[in-house]
Amino acid sequence: MAKRIFITGFWHETNTFAPTRTGLEDFHAYQYAEGDGLFEAFADTNTEIGGAMNAAMELDLNLIPGLFAGAVPSGMIKREAYQTILDRTLELLEDVGEIDGMLVHVHGAAVAEGAPEADADYLFALRRRLPLVPIVATFDLHANMSDGLIAAVDGLIGYNTYPHNDMAARGTEAAHMLHRMLWSDRRPEKIFVKLPFAPPPQVQATADQPVAGIMAKLEDMKDWGGIWSGSIAWGFPYADVAHLGVGILVQGDDIHHCRRIVDDLALTIWHKRGEFDAGLIEPEEAVRRAMAAPDGPIILADVADNAGGGSPGDGTTILAELLDQEARNAVIVLCDPGAVRAAKSLGLGAMFSGNVGGKADDLHGPPVPLVGEIIFQQTVTYSRQGDYMTGQKIDLGQVAVIQAGGIKVVLSEHKALPFDADHLSAVGIAAELQQIIVVKSAVAWQAHFRGFAKGEIYVDTPGVCASNLKRFDYTKLKHDIFPISDDGVWPAK
Ligand SMILES: [Zn+2]
Repeated sequence: MAKRIFITGFWHETNTFAPTRTGLEDFHAYQYAEGDGLFEAFADTNTEIGGAMNAAMELDLNLIPGLFAGAVPSGMIKREAYQTILDRTLELLEDVGEIDGMLVHVHGAAVAEGAPEADADYLFALRRRLPLVPIVATFDLHANMSDGLIAAVDGLIGYNTYPHNDMAARGTEAAHMLHRMLWSDRRPEKIFVKLPFAPPPQVQATADQPVAGIMAKLEDMKDWGGIWSGSIAWGFPYADVAHLGVGILVQGDDIHHCRRIVDDLALTIWHKRGEFDAGLIEPEEAVRRAMAAPDGPIILADVADNAGGGSPGDGTTILAELLDQEARNAVIVLCDPGAVRAAKSLGLGAMFSGNVGGKADDLHGPPVPLVGEIIFQQTVTYSRQGDYMTGQKIDLGQVAVIQAGGIKVVLSEHKALPFDADHLSAVGIAAELQQIIVVKSAVAWQAHFRGFAKGEIYVDTPGVCASNLKRFDYTKLKHDIFPISDDGVWPAK
């Protein structure tokens, strides 16, 4: 008889510095599916559930769907939203009858009102319902791992890449780990160490040094024998939580063996902490360099307005600079539902004149006056084509493109996450033909745009995802964390 595996997920990267709150409607707007709808939503996608579905077929596991609730990274999750998702998950678990194991997909950096460790809370709630069945969880490379999260389940698998293009592979790995537990009736030892170190996402890219070398070392160590899995969660620093920072987890047969690997990696990362340098360029200089480059496109990364990290995606600092310097052949995307409505009332081909961006809060630059022709206007939906979250269905809502001199300003009703250029091609803009492309992203853009971009510049802009962590006022930390503080002591006292 095939084992019955309950599969469920709750995914949110919470930016506690963002002034907005995340409600249930935000989960429904981005990704919400339950029952058989879960399989319809994720079949053949590069996601953990997609990967787990393929592995289940191969391993003859019978997946029993719970739900998946995911929202775009944003501010603190409202208490009722979190509670509703949790209650509904438990209700579905109750209804499905006997279960032999669970696969749970969490982010690891979710913070809800009343539940600062929301992921651990979610997993413990599942654990309490079925104390004896094996549970394997997957988590994001940006997780702020905690002892609670580790203790809640029998095994954990984290993404190895940023941009995260190994989600399906990790979902597959999680299914294999669960299968191993079920058939061997054994659990791995888990050794976990937390460092007082929180590098900004911009310097966490796994293709770049020093992270690339550290991840390679982890991979080598996994081959030592007796190791079930190992992960480094580089943390999400835009969360004011006591468990902020890098976590290293190794799981295997021998506790001493796991300990040696974890200590070695921890020491390596700690000694290299000074090498995590964001290398930011002032906006004026960044635009000047991008315009002067002989070949485009040049990517201007608006890291502080990282739409995938909880920023509103309506930051205007770079747009203002592009307009000032009269940039040619440049494109920027802003989330501005009000401006989209204004454009819609004017109609295609009309002249738009109004303030755009900078409306969600006063942290990402003021609204900028924009005058130009409305050259595109439509509701835009598409499926991701790139290799990052391939197949994911996206709804940008109403979109208007304003041509202001040499600058195309794409105004969207919902935030566009630049994991690929599909949101540009969907509005008739060929990304490869631009001189300047502004991305509201720290690293996720690289998976696609590095394939054809001729240069990249990280711009020192203001916002809730700024790479300079000293801009933020943390109140929940229990000890010094580098580089928020200039020092930091490890092992932490
Ligand atoms: Zn992430």
